[in-house]
Amino acid sequence: MTEATQVTDHGGGVRSIRVPIPDNPLGHTLVYVLDTDAGPVLVDTGWDDPASWDTLAAGLTECGTSVTDLTGVLITHHHPDHHGLSAKVREASGAWIAMHEADAAVVRRTRENPPARWYAYMAAKLAAAGAPEEHLAPLIAARDGGRPRRLPGLDPALPDRAITPGDLLDLPGRRLRAIWTPGHTPGHVCLHLEEEHPARLPGNGRLFSGDHVLPGITPHIGLYEDPDDATVTDPLGDYLASLEGVGRLAPAEVLPAHQHAFTDAPARVRELLDHHEERLTGLLGLLAAPLTPWQLAEHMEWNRPWAEIPYGSRNIAVSEAEAHLRRLVKLGRAEAVPGSDPVTYVAVP
Ligand SMILES: [Zn+2]
Ligand SMILES: [Zn+2]
Repeated sequence: MTEATQVTDHGGGVRSIRVPIPDNPLGHTLVYVLDTDAGPVLVDTGWDDPASWDTLAAGLTECGTSVTDLTGVLITHHHPDHHGLSAKVREASGAWIAMHEADAAVVRRTRENPPARWYAYMAAKLAAAGAPEEHLAPLIAARDGGRPRRLPGLDPALPDRAITPGDLLDLPGRRLRAIWTPGHTPGHVCLHLEEEHPARLPGNGRLFSGDHVLPGITPHIGLYEDPDDATVTDPLGDYLASLEGVGRLAPAEVLPAHQHAFTDAPARVRELLDHHEERLTGLLGLLAAPLTPWQLAEHMEWNRPWAEIPYGSRNIAVSEAEAHLRRLVKLGRAEAVPGSDPVTYVAVP
């Protein structure tokens, strides 16, 4: 019996390799191999794990090339299921790594900040969001314990090149344009292959969408965590604006980083916009009485009851609640209660 192939040929010099993400419900990252006249280039690399690396290497062999032949790596965003193997790829091949500057800044911060600073920042943020003592205690213990251990994914590769929004990338023989799509991360990019669809499907080329637009799941939109920047950003507002941009682009086919390729991008964009509008309206109902971001997260609908949500996922949930609160405040549909500490928010009647 032969092992099921992890490679899909999308035509027109584009293939994908399903690179597994260990112990993760997402299952795998779709790493794309794009042929150019200067040699193959990857879009994302996959999780840094020996089994993932082996799958990537075997997939490249099946594509008729090899890790050592790669000439470049384009990263849609800094998350470890996309950027994890970049350092290993560069080491094996000498390929350059390109990323949007805003995500490169996240990579630099992650490498430079000692874990204790990160714990202190998280503890302060969660306290301000109204998190209870028992939730803060482990972070404070970690902050004060000075554990020198590096956390997994905290030593990501520094990119060699910047991906500049609106520019055609320097890929001989291809027309690939960078589209800045902040929201899921501050420097998330989609990559628009401005070439006729190989099966002549109607629409404008093909779009490598990273985590920005996926066929069956909604990407996490939280806050952009930056200990060095107190700017009040609006990641959900950024996300919704970038989504509308992708809808207007109307690519013939979307090549996402998870799940599977799909057509009719405008319809999927519409669904995602409607989903967030419904969610914002639902939250306004919860904000009839003032709530902290933590309390709002407790009341929001998740994929399981709050009591069953594990520790790390609660942090992500609170970040998502705060991103929605910021949007509602920006829209003038909710406001902070003056003098509340920790700050509570209430719907504007
Ligand atoms: Zn991601
Ligand atoms: Zn992802």
